[in-house]
Amino acid sequence: MKNITLLGATGSIGDSTLAVIALHPDKFNIFALSANTNWQKMRVLCEKFQPKVVVMADAMAAEKLSKVVNNIEVLHGSNALNTIAAHDQTDYVMAAIVGSAGMPSSLAAVKAGKRIMLANKESLVLAGDLFMQAVADNNAELIPVDSEHCAIFQCLQSGKSGLSKIQLTASGGPFLHTPIEQLKTITPDQACAHPNWSMGRKISVDSATMMNKGLELIEAHYLFNLPAENIDVVMHPQSIIHSSVYYNDGSTLSQLGNPDMRTVIAYALSYPDRITSGVAPLNLADNSPLEFYAPDLDKFVCLKLAFDALKQGGNAMGTLNAANEVAVDYFLNNKIRFLDIAEIIERTLDSVPHSRITSLEDAVANDKITREVACIIAQSYA
Ligand code: NAD
Ligand code: MG
Repeated sequence: MKNITLLGATGSIGDSTLAVIALHPDKFNIFALSANTNWQKMRVLCEKFQPKVVVMADAMAAEKLSKVVNNIEVLHGSNALNTIAAHDQTDYVMAAIVGSAGMPSSLAAVKAGKRIMLANKESLVLAGDLFMQAVADNNAELIPVDSEHCAIFQCLQSGKSGLSKIQLTASGGPFLHTPIEQLKTITPDQACAHPNWSMGRKISVDSATMMNKGLELIEAHYLFNLPAENIDVVMHPQSIIHSSVYYNDGSTLSQLGNPDMRTVIAYALSYPDRITSGVAPLNLADNSPLEFYAPDLDKFVCLKLAFDALKQGGNAMGTLNAANEVAVDYFLNNKIRFLDIAEIIERTLDSVPHSRITSLEDAVANDKITREVACIIAQSYA
C-alpha cells in the first residue's frame, strides 16, 4: 500500500488522479490533499477519501473547511504544503498545483527523497538545474506527468544509446488553422475550448498560444538532459501519438493512446508495472488519418520565445514563465487581448536583466521581480 499526497486535488489533474486511485483501493491510500480556496469541493473529497491531513493555501478556506470535517487535520499556508510533501507517512507525491506556486512543495518532496509525479512543469522551468540536482542528491524518483514526457520516458526505457533527438507532439490547440488576423478577437472561453484535452484554464490558454509546448520544451531539456538542438516539435492535431524518440539507426519509437491524463497518471503511480486507468483502448481505425505539420513559429511566437529562453539559460526561463502567468491571468480576466500575451512576455524578457540562478532564493526573487515588471507592461495594454 502506498500513501499518496496529492497537491492540487481540486484541479483537472487532481480529478484524474483521484479517479485512478479510486480504481485501486488495494494499492493506494490518500494520506494528504491540498487545494487553494475551493473548500466546498475539498469537503466532498474529504468525505470520499478520508485523508489524514488537508492543506488549504488560503487561511479563510481552511477555517471554513475545519468546521465541517471530522478527524482530519486542516492546515493552511505554503509551509504546510511543504510539510505534507515531505511527511514521513507520504510515499508518493502528485505535484499538480498550477503555476510557480507549485515549485516549493515539489522541491520539498524531492528533498525528502520521495517518488514525485510531476505535473507542475513550472517547477522545472523556474529552477530546473536546482531541481534536477536535488533529485540526484536525495535519490528521489522523478516521474513525469505530462503526456509528452511520459511518452518519451516510456520510449527511453529502451535506452539512450544512439539517441539522436526527442520530438514533442503538439495538438496546436483550438487555433491550429486559424489565421493570425482572427486571433485578435479571441475570448478566454474560445481559448479554453481545447479540441482533445480537458484541462485547467491556465494550461488551456498556454495550449492555445503554444506556450505550453514552450514550457514542455524546457521541461524535456531538464528531464532528459538534452540540449535544445536535440529536441523538436511537430504539430499533430489528433493527439494520438504523444511523443517520439529518434535513434541514429533510423528507428523512431512513439507512444500512442487516447488523449486522457489517467493513462499518464496510472503509469506514474504504478511504474515500472502497469495498472488499469479507466481509459478506453485506442482504436487506430477510428482515428484515421493522423496528420503532422511543422510548427509555424511566426504565428505561435510563444514557442519561439521559449526556444530562445532555453538557449539563453539563467533566469530567462523563469522570466518567461512568470511573464506568461501574469499575461495569461490578465487575458483570462478580459483585461488584454489574446495576441497581447506574447507581446507582453517578449517585452518583459527584454526588460528583466539577465542573471544566473544559483539558489532557490534567486529563482523566487526573479519570479517576483518579473511579475512586477510584467504587470506594469500588461497595464499598458489593459
Ligand atoms: P487546475 O487549474 O485545474 O488545478 C490547479 C490546482 O492547483 C487546484 O487544485 C488549485 O486549488 C491549486 N492551486 C492553484 N493555485 C494555487 C496556489 N497559489 N497555492 C496552492 N494551490 C493552488 O490545473 P491543472 O490543469 O490540473 O494543471 C495542474 C498542473 O499540471 C499545471 O502545472 C499544468 O501545467 C500541469 N499539467 C496539466 C495537464 C492537464 O491535462 N490538466 C496536463 C499536463 C500537465
Ligand atoms: Mg503536455
